[in-house]
This record gives sequence, structure tokens and C-alpha cells, in this order.
Amino acid sequence: MKSEIRDINLAPDGHKKIAWVKANMPLLRGIEAEFLASKPFVGVRIALSIHLEAKTAYLCHVLRSGGAEMFVTGSNPLSTQDDVAAALVDAGMVVNAWYDSTPAEYEAHIRRTVECAPGIVIDDGGDLVQMLHLEYPHLLPGIIGGCEETTTGILRLLAMEKEGALKFPMILVNNAQCKHLFDNRYGTGQSVWDGINRTTNLTVAGKTVVVAGYGWCGKGVAMRAKGFGAAVIVTEIDPVKAIEALMDGFSVMTMNEAAPLGDIFITVTGCNDVVGEAHFPLMKDGAIMCNAGHFDVEVNVKRLSEIADQIEDKRKDIVGYRLGTKWLNVLAGGRLVNLAAGDGHPAEIMDMSFAIQALSARYLIENKGKITKMTMDVPEDIDQSVALRKLTSLGIAIDSLTAEQATYMEGWRVD
Ligand code: NAD
Ligand code: SAH
Repeated sequence: MKSEIRDINLAPDGHKKIAWVKANMPLLRGIEAEFLASKPFVGVRIALSIHLEAKTAYLCHVLRSGGAEMFVTGSNPLSTQDDVAAALVDAGMVVNAWYDSTPAEYEAHIRRTVECAPGIVIDDGGDLVQMLHLEYPHLLPGIIGGCEETTTGILRLLAMEKEGALKFPMILVNNAQCKHLFDNRYGTGQSVWDGINRTTNLTVAGKTVVVAGYGWCGKGVAMRAKGFGAAVIVTEIDPVKAIEALMDGFSVMTMNEAAPLGDIFITVTGCNDVVGEAHFPLMKDGAIMCNAGHFDVEVNVKRLSEIADQIEDKRKDIVGYRLGTKWLNVLAGGRLVNLAAGDGHPAEIMDMSFAIQALSARYLIENKGKITKMTMDVPEDIDQSVALRKLTSLGIAIDSLTAEQATYMEGWRVD
């Protein structure tokens, strides 16, 4: 099968980026060595749709070391890095993806990837699994199973399972502790600010930052905003999360109340229209809006462009919308600011997330035909093994219970 990428001549830069992250992903290096020895994926085609930048590319190498034939696409039209895509093709993998694809191109690239007739699918957000079910039902019986990377993708899988529509088992990678506790919180917390800061080149200290959604991602984004010296407002729809935000030291209010106060708005909800037509007229001149949740619907950019008096490119990845006398700015087209205007989470974070992906993919092969539930959490021993591998890579040892302590902890007739 042929690849469809922008320019194979970009491969040398892509190889360098992959080598850099590999040097900082010790867990995946260890798993690569194990896969090279045991070859768990011989004869298996893996279709993978994850943000196509260097860390994902290294995951592809690791799976290929295990004998898999890799068919790769991106999971967002703006997060593919063309040099990385070229490096994967240069290394002999099939890639269909390029940066800034139109909706039709993005869909065609997923289609070409799906058409490899995969044995395993690795998805981020659900686009690949959705297309397989809706348009390629004849390929479903050949699929051993798959893994889903992110929160919103899991919500979609659970909805499919509830309807009886999901036809092969999916492992819910985001539910693993070693995924969401670190990737969603510390990964998003760091990379969102990297994306905003490199795009705007403005200060955060002294500004008012509004974070919509206080889930795992929101907690990280708000924590780091506070560290930069911003005053932080959180908006929520869940009363418990709202109290959590309050007790973590943030102001909590509705988006209507926050709209006139915020300098920078960041959505991390997975919901739509979180910042929308009701809020735009209330905002300050120069307000900056961006999204780090799911699709480009959390900030309602479509509606903003319909009601704007003027639209102007302000700087790379910043579009200004004039409403009367004031300008509102949207970063990265309202798509994930950390990936569309940055390199996403750091290597050491994706090392843990992708270690879970790689070990979960091997679990699917080892348990082929034996998994009866259509969605399952990452097995506990994989989660624990990733935590231990991480500590070992850092040279950190922890205590373990003595036999006497174990008896004490398990008993109830104790003094
Ligand atoms: P989560 O479920 O832990 O948190 C989402 C929070 O948003 C919840 O507390 C929910 O109550 C709140 N919420 C929902 N609708 C809202 C609304 N209209 N207004 C205010 N709050 C609202 O999920 P998470 O793990 O934090 O992930 C959030 C989103 O970010 C998901 O779409 C996920 O797929 C995505 N994600 C992005 C990255 C990234 O790299 N940018 C990383 C991980 C996850
Ligand atoms: N397809 C959706 C999916 C949300 S992406 C969209 O683009 O709109 C959220 C996921 O991106 C997270 O779960 C996180 O694990 C992943 N991610 C973050 N940084 C990454 C990186 N550097 N490389 C690959 N994936 C990354």
C-alpha cells in the first residue's frame, strides 16, 4: 500500500526529532528490546491514528520491532508534523497524513489507513473506530481488538457499547492511572502553556486565566496558570469538581460571569459551545481563547466567524475576530492548542502513556478470542508495571510491606 504524505525529503529532520524523543523515553526503549526478542505482533497489521509527531512515531517503531506491519495516520488535521511522517515512510511504514489537511483529506487519510484491514487498531478520539464500524463492517470480524487513548474517545466507545454497536474489544487506555494522572494532568498542564506562550509571546503573570472544566486536564492547566502568577477562574458543570477547584484555591463562577474578567480562556471539557455567542460580546478587547479538550467546537469558532465584523490573521496560529470596536483572538483555530500550536506533551509523559498502549496491544494478542466484554480497563498488572518501570528508569526505589506489615494491613483483629 502506498503512503500519502507531503514530502519525503523532510525525512532527515523527522529522524532527528524521533531520535531526540527516543533518548528521553526509557520505558519504550525497554519495551522495544522486549518486543525485538519476543516478536508478539508477527503477521499483525496495526492501524494507528494518534497525533503524528515524534513520540507517536517512536511508538510506531516499537510496535514494528515486535513484528507488526504499521499503517499510520494522524488524529487531528493540525497536529501532524510532515517531517515526522516522512521519517516513518523512509523507515518503511505506510503513512497517510499531512499537516493542515482539509476535512476531506483528513477523512481520506483515515479511510486509506482503515483499508489495510487491521488486526489491531490504536485510536485517539475515536475517528478510526467510528469509520470502521460505519463504513467497513466487513473488516470488523478480522479485528482482534484495539486501544483508545483519550477521555472523549472512551465516552464514544461506551456509548457504542451501550447500543450494542461496538463489535470488537477496546482497551480504555485513558482509564489507566499511569495515563490520566500524568498525561492529562501534568502533560496537558505543561504543554498547553507551552503552546499558548510560544504562540502569543505574552506574559501570563498578572493576567486572569479562565479554565473551563476541572477534570484531569483542567486541574493541570489551572495549577500551572497559578504557578505563572495568573489569577485563575474555573468554570464547571459538576458541583463536586467545582468545590474541588474552590478548595484548590481558585475562583469558581459561571462562564457568563467569567467572560468580562478573563484575559485568557482555555477550554478542557470535551463539550461543545462552552465559550459561545452568549459570551463573546461580554469579553474584553484583546481576550485570547483556546481549546485543549477535544474538537474545535469547545470555543464556538464557527459562530464567532459568522458574527464577526472582520477577521484577520494576527500572527502564526492567531486569528483575530473584530466585534464592533474590540478584537477577540483565537489560537490554533480552536483546535488543541498544545498539539496544533506545539509539540504536545513532553517525551517523558508520552513514554508512560505509550508504554501502556504498547503493553495493552500485546495483551490483545496474548488474549485473542478470550476477551468477551467490548470495553475493558487496562489490566492492573500493566498499570503497575508501567509505574515500576518509570521509577526504575529514574533510579528510585520504594519500600515494600514486610510479611508482618502485610498481615497487619489485611487483618481487622488488631490493636
Ligand atoms: P474529565 O472528564 O476528567 O474532565 C472534563 C471536565 O469538564 C469535567 O469535570 C466536566 O464536568 C467538565 N465539563 C463538561 N462540560 C462542561 C461545560 N460545558 N462547562 C464547564 N465544564 C464542563 O476529562 P479530561 O481527562 O480532563 O479531558 C478533557 C478533554 O481533554 C477530553 O476531551 C479529552 O479527550 C481531552 N484531552 C486532551 C489532551 C490534550 O493533549 N490536549 C490530553 C488529554 C485529554
Ligand atoms: N482527536 C482528538 C483527540 C484529543 S487528543 C482531537 O485532536 O481533537 C488528546 C490526546 O492527545 C491525549 O489523550 C494525549 O495522550 C494525546 N497527546 C498529547 N500530547 C501528545 C503527543 N506529544 N504525541 C501524541 N499524543 C499526544
